[in-house]
Amino acid sequence: MSDNDGKKPLGVRGAGSRPGNVKQSFSHGRTKNVVVETKRKRVVVPKPGAGAAGAAGEAGKPMSPGTASKRPAGITDAEMERRMKALSAAKARESEEAAQREADEKAREEERLRRREEAEAKEREQREAEERARAKAAEDERSKRVSEQAAIKAAAAAAAEPDAVPAPARQAPAKSAPAPRKREDDDQQSRRSKGRGGEDVRRSGKLTLNQALAGGEGGRQKSMAAMKRKQERARQKAMGGVQEREKVVRDVQLPEVIVVSELANRMAERVGDVVKALMQNGMMVTQNQSIDADTAELIIEEFGHRVVRVSDSDVEDVIDSVEDKAEDLQPRPPVITIMGHVDHGKTSLLDAIRDAKVVAGEAGGITQHIGAYQVTTDSGALLTFLDTPGHAAFTSMRARGAQVTDIVVLVVAADDAVMPQTIEAINHAKAAKVPMIVAINKIDLPAADPDKVRADLLRHEVIVEAMSGDVQDVEVSAKAGLGLDELLDAIALQAEILELRANPNRAAEGAVIEAQLDVGRGPVATVLVKKGTLRQGDIFVVGEQFGKVRALINDRGERVAEAGPSAPVEVLGLNGTPEAGDVLNVVETEAQAREIAEYRANAAKEKRAAVGAGTSLEQLLAKAREDENVKEMPIVVKADVQGSAEAIVQAMEKIGNDEVRVRVLHSGVGAITESDIGLAEASGAPVFGFNVRANAPARNSANQKGVEIRYYSVIYDLVDDVKSAASGLLGAEIREKFIGYAQIKEVFKVTGIGRVAGCLVTEGVARRSAGVRLLRDDVVIHEGTLKTLKRFKDEVTEVQSGQECGMAFESYDDIRPGDVIEIFEREEVTRTLA
Ligand code: GDP
Repeated sequence: MSDNDGKKPLGVRGAGSRPGNVKQSFSHGRTKNVVVETKRKRVVVPKPGAGAAGAAGEAGKPMSPGTASKRPAGITDAEMERRMKALSAAKARESEEAAQREADEKAREEERLRRREEAEAKEREQREAEERARAKAAEDERSKRVSEQAAIKAAAAAAAEPDAVPAPARQAPAKSAPAPRKREDDDQQSRRSKGRGGEDVRRSGKLTLNQALAGGEGGRQKSMAAMKRKQERARQKAMGGVQEREKVVRDVQLPEVIVVSELANRMAERVGDVVKALMQNGMMVTQNQSIDADTAELIIEEFGHRVVRVSDSDVEDVIDSVEDKAEDLQPRPPVITIMGHVDHGKTSLLDAIRDAKVVAGEAGGITQHIGAYQVTTDSGALLTFLDTPGHAAFTSMRARGAQVTDIVVLVVAADDAVMPQTIEAINHAKAAKVPMIVAINKIDLPAADPDKVRADLLRHEVIVEAMSGDVQDVEVSAKAGLGLDELLDAIALQAEILELRANPNRAAEGAVIEAQLDVGRGPVATVLVKKGTLRQGDIFVVGEQFGKVRALINDRGERVAEAGPSAPVEVLGLNGTPEAGDVLNVVETEAQAREIAEYRANAAKEKRAAVGAGTSLEQLLAKAREDENVKEMPIVVKADVQGSAEAIVQAMEKIGNDEVRVRVLHSGVGAITESDIGLAEASGAPVFGFNVRANAPARNSANQKGVEIRYYSVIYDLVDDVKSAASGLLGAEIREKFIGYAQIKEVFKVTGIGRVAGCLVTEGVARRSAGVRLLRDDVVIHEGTLKTLKRFKDEVTEVQSGQECGMAFESYDDIRPGDVIEIFEREEVTRTLA
């Protein structure tokens, strides 16, 4: 086939096409076979000259010897020649025939086309007529007459249309689409000017309709649907709209924020109308945007409904939170948490008490670890021990509003005395205002020195009875089983003093101590009942989960029917795994439980999304000033050395006036840890780091919980900040901005410079002009400036995160691999009281 139409036929389909091969050749002798399809019938149409070529082309045969060489292998030149001769002979005849065929075909095609158009036009007219008829039928008044007209018109159209169709000169199928439109236009014009009988009826009908409903000549172009809508609207306006509104005045539950579409939904109004109403009130919003309650209230009133303001948290109202009457209260066992420094024997003590009491009391009783257990003292007092020693559990429970602990047993090893975590435990207990009992452990050891412990504790304001204070102290040995009964008695005595009471006859409330997904049993939570009685079959919500009590299992692995105040039980039948510290509430229906759980899940999601929400110094003080009850400003202080920690605490305690007093919840030496963050969160306090930094888990935890950490390197700055904050005067502040961190990988000695740190910038950027600090184990050991910042051999001004560089401090040499260089800049920020 010829090259000129070599591309065109690609992809032509249908009976008129057939496949052929073209071998394309490129430079350097490369060739390529291309399968093409040619269309037989179309080719004749253009010029007669091209017709021959086209007719020949149909067979896909080569037209020039030049192309012969490109034929597939196996066809010789001689054969090619023969073929060509035969071809040229046949060609003339063929082209004649083809032309003839084409002409016939064309005529037939035209005929077909015309007929199809006619049929289509007829069909369309009919359809339109029908639709119009239907639309008219909807109108009660005129329906009869109009539908008659439509029938007439339909008939007329059917009769008149074929005549009106001008024989179209164009027949290319592609053009058949616009053709009817043009025909219609022509048609309309001719009808307007000529005004034939049948069409007059039709026109008058149409115009009447248009005038009546669409109100203009544009009506003809409008879709039937649009017309129907208009009719509908008109009818509604005439009779329906107002009536409907008067009929149903709704009570619209309005939370603090509401999405426009939901507002419309609650009013049972159309979203579009609500959006329009909002626009008229100057609020340009879409249906998916939220508006505040005040705006929504305006809209609700505008639509004639009643506003019922609710807060989202109202779903929680179904939880029975009525204060119990004094006469309903009955004594309950105390809940005890054991705290203390690592290795001082917390676990051993818990085990010793359990082994001594549970096994003795219940012959063959199997103890099961469910996070808590109960023991009975010799004098008959029931005590509940939380089986999760340590501070994290204690603070996280407290932070989640589930303060279950009544008494803290502070374990101090007699051979070791007071250690950092002992102090931490003391501060946790004090912050939670929970009384303490000191268990001086390991008295079996020869090195034991209980009096040293007592004296040590005195320095931390824990005055034990032996030192004429009011904190009970008991000497014990978890290992030798000494003093356990005395300890239990001391606890029972303390509990008596506390007069712990709860009403067992009410819907149960409890706190989750532990929860896990058990392979066989599904989600299981150990719940400590705080008040009321939890029974099998109770429906409850717990944190973001809910469920129905399928079974209750006590700390001895026995199934029980119910659990009263201070009893720990494993609860089966949850829909998901709650978190330790979540509060369990029994509610009446499963729908309520589900609703509350969903509300909480959403609220938690929103809280997580709200970045930076939490306890900042400013917020705290604003709160302190607003709320008359908050007279204390709690803070947590960590410092590099004991001396600075003490100095800070002393300075802090001097700060304060009649309104606000600073209370140091905890002060310690070393990096800021997760435990510090936990304590700060539980008490709503900021953490001050003096020449120390938060370690990575603490930093993450602080970010998550929104606890503010402030770093200082000058005591005066810290004191000044707290002082000005406490007095409510927030002046301009020089704030440090950390711009980067670099990890020292290696240390080199370079002549002329001294010791150079080979570093990897792990975060942000390292800047030559910025201030730098050297951190070792999260403690600041040097602060200064850089002498050099090198990238390979060159001195540079900046090195980005992920790159390696060389750094040397100005007049400071003690750098070691593993140290971290903190790069910071100072900026002045004008603080506001917002
Ligand atoms: P925890 O980290 O506070 O839970 O401490 P553990 O209960 O794990 O105890 C730490 C170590 O102290 C273990 O090796 C115990 O065997 C040991 N220990 C605990 N109580 C006593 C005790 O009363 N006497 C002696 N000699 N060793 C004890």
